[in-house]
Amino acid sequence: MTTVACNLCGSHNHRWILSKGQGDTVPCRDLVRCLGCGLVFVHPCLAPDEILRQYTDERLQREYLEQRYLPREESMRRFAEMLLSEAPAGTRLLDVGAGPGLLVSAARKRGWDAVGLDPSGPSVRFARERLKAPMVESTVESADFDPARFDGISMVEVLEHLTDPRGAVSKAHRWLSPSGFLLVTTPNWDNPVRWVQGSDWEAIIPSGHLYYFTRRTLGRLLKLCGFSVERIRTHGLTWVNNRPRLRRLAECFGLGETLIVWARPAGGRVG
Ligand SMILES: [Zn+2]
Repeated sequence: MTTVACNLCGSHNHRWILSKGQGDTVPCRDLVRCLGCGLVFVHPCLAPDEILRQYTDERLQREYLEQRYLPREESMRRFAEMLLSEAPAGTRLLDVGAGPGLLVSAARKRGWDAVGLDPSGPSVRFARERLKAPMVESTVESADFDPARFDGISMVEVLEHLTDPRGAVSKAHRWLSPSGFLLVTTPNWDNPVRWVQGSDWEAIIPSGHLYYFTRRTLGRLLKLCGFSVERIRTHGLTWVNNRPRLRRLAECFGLGETLIVWARPAGGRVG
């Protein structure tokens, strides 16, 4: 089998971790850990066309919106509000992988001139019609904005879906003003639910989640792309989400299931 270079360090050396499929419909795929930098990823990676099809297929996307998005809309709105409450000041915001437009809509209510970027036609239409959110229908790979166009760029639960996260973060660096901020959230590979449940951890979805980050690998990615990490923390832990004190304790020790990172172009400053 041809090995694929690690997106983070370029190494071709990796070790198999697990294999996972989804029922009869999604074939089994391997997750490997890079021996050069520790990044965990699906190998071999899916072709960009195959990935894009998942997000542009009308039937699949309508199913996603009706069966998965709408029942969770309120909790996702609370998550978006929490993130925005921590955001530094600014005017122009780009939400990459904006999906149905929740964060864009919430940001506009807070006074941001916010726009979303997403390749999914059904999600883009949903965001425009239901939430009146301005959207650009495109992949991050094809998108083109002027340098330094935005004061803030968010990538909420997006990096893990991309075939080239390093390329996407590099683009964000180019699109940000020197004093702008980048917000990234992504599943945290180093958490006790994954340690106990192994491949059953719900964030391990090899057909859609192609990369799995830790504080260390995400920090390294941001640094490689010209960012300096200002704040990095974890959020939420399934077992104790309804017990606030325990949840906060887990988050304090970096054991939450989601990584939340605020970064700035190296040389600039957040806040
Ligand atoms: Zn690597």
